Amino acid sequence: MSTRPEILFPLFQELTTLDGIGKKNANYLNSIGIEKPRDLIFTLPYTGVERQKVNSVNDAALPKTLTVEVQIVEHVVPKVKSQPYKVMVLDAETKFGLVFFHVRKEYLKKTLPVGERRVVSGKVELFDGFAQMVHPDHIISLNDGKNIDSFEPTYPLTAGISKKLITRAARSAIQMAPMLAEWIDPREKSRSGWPDWKAAIEKVHHPKSLGDINPFKSERLRLAYDEFLAHQLALGLARDKLRKSKGTSSNTNGALRAKVLSDLPFDLTGAQIRTLSQIYNDMESQFRMNRLLQGDVGSGKTLVAFLALLVAVEAGGQGVFMAPTEILAQQHLNNLMDLAKTLDVQVDILTGRDKGRVRKQKLTRLKNGDIKILLGTHAVFQKDVFFRDLRLVVIDEQHRFGVRQRLELCKKGPAADILAMTATPIPRSLALAQYGDMDFSILDEKPPGRKPIKTVMLSADRIEEVIGKLIKAVERGRQAYWVCPLVEESEILDYISSEDRFIKLQAILGEDAVGLIHGNMASLEKDLAVQRFAAGQTKVLVATTVIEVGLNVPNASIMIIERAEIFGLAQLHQLRGRIGRGSTESTCLLLYKAPLSPIGRRRLGILRETEDGFVISQTDLEMRGSGDFIGTAQSGLPKFRIADLQSMSNLMAKAQSDARTLLTIDPNLTSERGQAARLLLWLMEQDKIIHLISAG
Ligand code: ADP
Ligand code: MG
Repeated sequence: MSTRPEILFPLFQELTTLDGIGKKNANYLNSIGIEKPRDLIFTLPYTGVERQKVNSVNDAALPKTLTVEVQIVEHVVPKVKSQPYKVMVLDAETKFGLVFFHVRKEYLKKTLPVGERRVVSGKVELFDGFAQMVHPDHIISLNDGKNIDSFEPTYPLTAGISKKLITRAARSAIQMAPMLAEWIDPREKSRSGWPDWKAAIEKVHHPKSLGDINPFKSERLRLAYDEFLAHQLALGLARDKLRKSKGTSSNTNGALRAKVLSDLPFDLTGAQIRTLSQIYNDMESQFRMNRLLQGDVGSGKTLVAFLALLVAVEAGGQGVFMAPTEILAQQHLNNLMDLAKTLDVQVDILTGRDKGRVRKQKLTRLKNGDIKILLGTHAVFQKDVFFRDLRLVVIDEQHRFGVRQRLELCKKGPAADILAMTATPIPRSLALAQYGDMDFSILDEKPPGRKPIKTVMLSADRIEEVIGKLIKAVERGRQAYWVCPLVEESEILDYISSEDRFIKLQAILGEDAVGLIHGNMASLEKDLAVQRFAAGQTKVLVATTVIEVGLNVPNASIMIIERAEIFGLAQLHQLRGRIGRGSTESTCLLLYKAPLSPIGRRRLGILRETEDGFVISQTDLEMRGSGDFIGTAQSGLPKFRIADLQSMSNLMAKAQSDARTLLTIDPNLTSERGQAARLLLWLMEQDKIIHLISAG
């Protein structure tokens, strides 16, 4: 089944097939992302207007939106143009006015003929003690009046289209919707009391009161679950596809690892041991490993990755370690060479910097298997890079690489195991949404002996004081990072540029004591800056957020961040993670521009309270909502129209287990429920994934 099933055709037609939608409105709706009836069905009302039906406007406390049957008594034509046109009407008890500004007389005479009865609906208010309805929303015959809802839904994104029209179009879309076979597990459905799909969409588009707009009403939850389930099925199918493809079984005697471990000046943490045994198991099995290693900054992910790379080498193969920047690749290379110095293992690096003959030689050594472990950046993706026997791909700071790049890298070793690593601790619901196709390992324990970091918030007014303290600290042999938000002085934003700060600090601390690193520098210069700082030659490193990820200089114990209030919390946490790595007490100064908003104060306050990245990201998520959080912290996260990741994390977990169970029983989705699940995938536009099963 590689084409859309016919039963869904009506929902994937042009919008103009809907009642009331012409070319112009269709174009407008297209422009806001609503392209077919299906999209309209999944665009739910977000609020609505009560249109209480009454016999008389006397029956309600005004002002209020009411629907009432009236007899037209007389037309009061204004004497002056600036005055409104008034039509006096009589309901069951009282007389009141319908008021119009700038409306053609002939039109009103025709719609509201004296002596006849009509149903009118609109907001009734008191004016000089008299009830009046200005510009009724509806003026209709008694017959049509029966159909008027006592609650009228309001749709989002309708600035360019009338409320009446969108409601009508949505309803006509629902009429086109077929009854569909059930894809949800019947036990789950009855336990939760969810309606059928068709009943659910009818209900959400016909709310009876504001209470029906609640996202936790069963019909809305059902539709949210559908979104999650489709997403998890898609991830599950992708995962199975990868797992089914044959991997290599890396069986080893562990000699290299044992040697490295015995040379280490410390013991592995419990979390590292646990994680490594999961990884070793995966690498030994003949399935492909697809594992995400999550661990807060400083939890020791890099060492785990190195040991895993040694498994690939012990088994006679090769490994590649992908870093997001050249600086990090270089740093990893240094550490790895240090670690591997007593081993007879060739380690090398490939970045965009390698050109001409040097590059060619490296490629040859890689292809014939001399280089056992390659550190690299995006340069490794290039077409002419070949491995002899690539067995493990490690991707550090995996959110910096796109999914496509991940797949491309896997092509270099079609059976290679994959270990992706991230320091961005994300709540479980988000993790399930983004990485539901992977197995998880978590380093939830920091190496012992770390001293807590003292975190202080300070107004930028006190910068002189800060500099004074910095001078003293440097005299005592300490090193510091100084982070600035922007590279270039901006006219609009008065962020202090790093260059500017660099020059000022040089003037105070001496030229040789201060280094600078930012994104606009040539990579060689950047390396030099890092090297000099790591070697203790420069005492202060002025930087932009390029140092955010991974940099490891244990002697640096002070972190100063200017304009901290404009950074994301996760980012601040990463930055702070650069210190607290050595034996000295560390301090992080968050400088803000006064006045700080109450929310800004609370946000920075969280950093002062905890060093637990998980707590920080969870709080950040709660304060900002998932959309925002995801925008800055993550990429590649799916967008859901109805479901909300943040408040419905249990639902996502349920969807994952349901999807995995279904795929275990029915991996090709051929059973009755499997077929229904295929419908769901089509409905949710997971076309690419469906092609995957069709092909496989
Ligand atoms: P991450 O990449 O997770 O942020 P790193 O791998 O950079 O963390 O580790 C931070 C520091 O901790 C490194 O200097 C590393 O050598 C050290 N380290 C790693 N594991 C341990 C351990 N079990 N005990 C002590 N120190 C460790
Ligand atoms: Mg790291």
